[in-house]
Amino acid sequence: MHKVKNKDVFKASWTYHSAPESTGHVQIKKKYDLYIDGKFTKPVAGTYFDTINPSDHKKIASVAEATEKDIDKAVKAARSAFKSWSALTGRERGKYIFRIARLIQERAREFAVIESLDGGKPIRESRDIDIPLAANHFFYYAGWADKLSYAFPNRIAKPLGVVGQIIPWNFPLLMAAWKIAPALATGNTIVLKPAETTPLTALKLAEIIHESGLPKGVVNLVTGAGETGAAIVNHPDIDKIAFTGSTRVGKYILNATAGTPKKLTLELGGKGANIIFEDAAIDQAVEGIINAIFFNQGHVCCAGSRLFVQESVADLVIRKLKDRMKTLIVGDPLDKNTDIGAINSKKQLQTIENYINIGINEGGEIYQPDCTLPSKGNWCPPTLFLNVSQSHRIVQEEIFGPVLAVQTFRTIDEVIEKANNTPYGLSAGVWTDKGSKIFHLTQKLNAGVIWANTFNKFDATSPFGGYKESGFGREGGLHGLKPYVTFE
Ligand code: NAP
Ligand code: MG
Repeated sequence: MHKVKNKDVFKASWTYHSAPESTGHVQIKKKYDLYIDGKFTKPVAGTYFDTINPSDHKKIASVAEATEKDIDKAVKAARSAFKSWSALTGRERGKYIFRIARLIQERAREFAVIESLDGGKPIRESRDIDIPLAANHFFYYAGWADKLSYAFPNRIAKPLGVVGQIIPWNFPLLMAAWKIAPALATGNTIVLKPAETTPLTALKLAEIIHESGLPKGVVNLVTGAGETGAAIVNHPDIDKIAFTGSTRVGKYILNATAGTPKKLTLELGGKGANIIFEDAAIDQAVEGIINAIFFNQGHVCCAGSRLFVQESVADLVIRKLKDRMKTLIVGDPLDKNTDIGAINSKKQLQTIENYINIGINEGGEIYQPDCTLPSKGNWCPPTLFLNVSQSHRIVQEEIFGPVLAVQTFRTIDEVIEKANNTPYGLSAGVWTDKGSKIFHLTQKLNAGVIWANTFNKFDATSPFGGYKESGFGREGGLHGLKPYVTFE
């Protein structure tokens, strides 16, 4: 069993504004190595980078930077583990995955605090959404491991081999779970890279995977920035790349893997339409709008970042929306009362501020409630733009922050046309009292996920993924197994 040596560990001692989440058992090492072939291993080049707390800019830990040679070691370890891992019975594989799920559950509080420290999201979200969902993902796919013959009737599903997985910083542990659990259930071995700004929960997951007794080399965790990701993409002995991130990097990977035998799934950006009809329950819809765009600071690929309100209720909805925005608490991610935490990085804050300026310069009418932002750290108040139209950049381009573009519509055909008119096709929401409208819109909206009278609800049993520049392939549910198998 892997033991964290006491001298490498400090007890986190973070302060709170009120009602703190206890950090009693949170252990964060000062320095993290790569997890390759069942061992925590120093990077070949010996370089480390800092991961920082976006709410106060303090360094949390040093993290190893993997270069090509480390990736090569990780791929070799995964390749040599593949034969025996894929030969195990599904039931045996399922037991390991189940054990990982249980260990995440046991350490849920620790995971939640680390997620909020490293990434800036409110502790309420880490605790109630990210971490339980991550555990559920492992539980769910543990159950599929010995039922692949039911998942793929009359066909013999075989694993692909070594899978390279690259994930973003907005749901760090959850994205790792979405990637690792189905790949293990189907008998693949893994080299996974978390995002540079949020490596800590993935590293904690590596510790848990080690404790679970998973055979060495089955999961390898390599930290680093974009170059580390590119080294995975370009390694010749990887059979599949599973990527979640921006459309820009997704296109690079599409080109880099073209003409190679590598299989590919891409979960990319979005510009979700949230549509409020005049017959909707207005107060619930307003809560839905808030959740759709301000959940996780708007760092959500499927965020409802475009609001369409039917003209007859537009004044009412916008007034209620502004009133509700005034009550949102922006601040310390570890405070249980916080609604909007820290923006994940200085770079992302600059991107968001740049889009806010673009919105103003293009003639949008900005609304931000008065709120006192902490003096240190990366912060953005909840923001909405009125007087925008389809051609505005803040309506067409993904901002990935707490910024909502509001438009009105008169008819159902008009809103369908507008909602579909972006390069993306990931998510949409529909708020109405009429089931017939919901059915009609689910047929007509070009989005992989459509919520009715709710938004941003996720479950391990439900497939997730996009169309157009939002990528291809599905994660979650039965659909999430398919990208990791081939058939005899
Ligand atoms: P990103 O810049 O594309 O980065 C994603 C991951 O790719 C990170 O681990 C990144 O490393 C790595 N990377 C960067 N350049 C690379 C390269 N040339 N080759 C290989 N890997 C490379 O995206 P992000 O800013 O982290 O995440 C936000 C984006 O993710 C948004 O567009 C969002 O919509 C999308 N997203 C989509 C989904 C979905 O399911 N559709 C879910 C969540 C997020 P570094 O972090 O070190 O740069
Ligand atoms: Mg960080």
